[in-house]
Amino acid sequence: MLDADTKAQLKSYLERVSQPIEITAFPDDSETSRNMMSLLGDITEASHLVSVLQNTEAPGRRPSFSVNRPGGGVGIRFSGLPMGHEFTSLVLALLQTAGYPPKVSPEIVQQIQAINADLHFETFVSLTCHNCPDVVQAMNMMAALNPRITHEMVEGGQFQSEVEERQIMGVPTVLLGGEVFGSGRMELDEILAKIVALVDTGAAERTAAELSAKEPFDMLVVGGGPAGAAAAIYAARKGIRTGIVAERFGGQVLDTLAIENFVSVSATEGARLARGLEEHVRVYDVDIMTLQRAVSVKPGELFEVALESGAVLKAKSVIAATGARWRNMNVPGEAEYKTKGVAYCPHCDGPLFKGKRVAVIGGGNSGIEAAIDLAGIVEHVTVLEFDTKLRADAVLIAKLNSLPNVTVHLNAKTTEVVGDGQKVTGLTYEDRATGEVHRVNLEGIFVQIGLVPNTDWLKGAIELSPRGEVIVDVKGETSVPGIFGAGDVTTVPYKQIVIAMGEGAKASLGAFDHLIRSSVKAA
Ligand code: FAD
Repeated sequence: MLDADTKAQLKSYLERVSQPIEITAFPDDSETSRNMMSLLGDITEASHLVSVLQNTEAPGRRPSFSVNRPGGGVGIRFSGLPMGHEFTSLVLALLQTAGYPPKVSPEIVQQIQAINADLHFETFVSLTCHNCPDVVQAMNMMAALNPRITHEMVEGGQFQSEVEERQIMGVPTVLLGGEVFGSGRMELDEILAKIVALVDTGAAERTAAELSAKEPFDMLVVGGGPAGAAAAIYAARKGIRTGIVAERFGGQVLDTLAIENFVSVSATEGARLARGLEEHVRVYDVDIMTLQRAVSVKPGELFEVALESGAVLKAKSVIAATGARWRNMNVPGEAEYKTKGVAYCPHCDGPLFKGKRVAVIGGGNSGIEAAIDLAGIVEHVTVLEFDTKLRADAVLIAKLNSLPNVTVHLNAKTTEVVGDGQKVTGLTYEDRATGEVHRVNLEGIFVQIGLVPNTDWLKGAIELSPRGEVIVDVKGETSVPGIFGAGDVTTVPYKQIVIAMGEGAKASLGAFDHLIRSSVKAA
């Protein structure tokens, strides 16, 4: 099953194993099952501490296998083959089952071990989804650390009828006790907070009280993407009291697969760069508060940043680095059918629409790239572009035009996502030239119409452009002295990682300058 290089790599990983691992295989008579048995054979060859048993009786999905300590104790199961992006999840599951410590802080380990409830999770994935392994690995780690938690990865392509029956139209989708627990990219701390909130209802209130009790910050950075990370590093290096509050550390970088224009690094991946951002910030004395959403900022002697959790943070200066998010179409049915056919990530969710009909909304570079990718997987792609011409690069348009299973409608305004109550069945669009409304029958809609700045929390507090972006001067200062802005959230053009980082550094230095000048004035 595995090639010679992968076998050698696996062997070197499993050399770290010092405790026995017992794999139980649940085979059937399919080709995938034969491949699974061959994979398990490769694993046993790589380490004498791994043994494989077969169970042909037990109920449950087949082909699948579970990874256990002898005598039970770990509830990790893989249904379908964990290859592609999930191979790393398998290797980590083996290592962690054998007691190899996960790379997380002791506080996180403690929180996982303190979960005092029996929880069975199932995560539906596709093997080409780059967001899925993080979720699978987080869930597996919890199962390895806490015997009351069990987790099963389900490869959607292998269990297609179940995917359809359960109306799963986006990956990763995590089920808890058969009900949807979460879908899309989720970080370990986000999953953990959600579980803790479920099993300990007072936890959120206690966290909010702890946040409100914090001493005022000299500089509070709101947003943990490239701009926020750079701002926090520059502030902390000045030796001032720095905090960073963010919904999820990494920002849009987490949604990015390959990055090839981060100057000095010829190629990297979004998840890796996001980890690097966090690790670099953690080198310094920065108070990192994640999973917290800012809802307003109030100027005063100290700025007060209110959070959705009810907490209020105080600071002498604030850096707004809240970036941007996917733009919605805002048409009837879009919100209702999100993850039920309406999707935003073609790399992740494309394989779930194999052999089906889909639409891509948007004819810019990201829309046309998505259409080209999807055309290789699905039966047919309809591209709808509002403008009278596609706005993508000529080379992409030429490639698109060469594909036999793509139809392009220009001057087309999407008017409604249509569904049967469970899932998308089509869409309607208006021909802007004639006013005629047409219906297209399909199962998936990929929305690729750009980004919108995350400035709801700033509305009424500082000046925003007509597009809702933060207006900044050459030092990154906004219309309110002491509040600075950086990155994709601002009017600064060309939304890119290196630009966001540079702007974050600049805003931080600008804010430091402001702090020095205001302290001199006060004296
Ligand atoms: P973001 O990355 O958007 O970070 C915003 C931060 O603010 C996040 O931590 C978020 O959780 C937080 N936040 C948002 N609202 C709130 C709130 N109310 N309260 C608290 N926190 C909040 N750029 C490149 O240079 N090269 C590429 O190859 C590339 N590829 C891309 C591919 C994709 C699919 C996408 C979406 C973007 C890509 N970009 C690329 C653009 C790049 O990712 C952005 O320019 C960059 O991430 C902007 O950084 P930022 O810090 O300004 O904002």
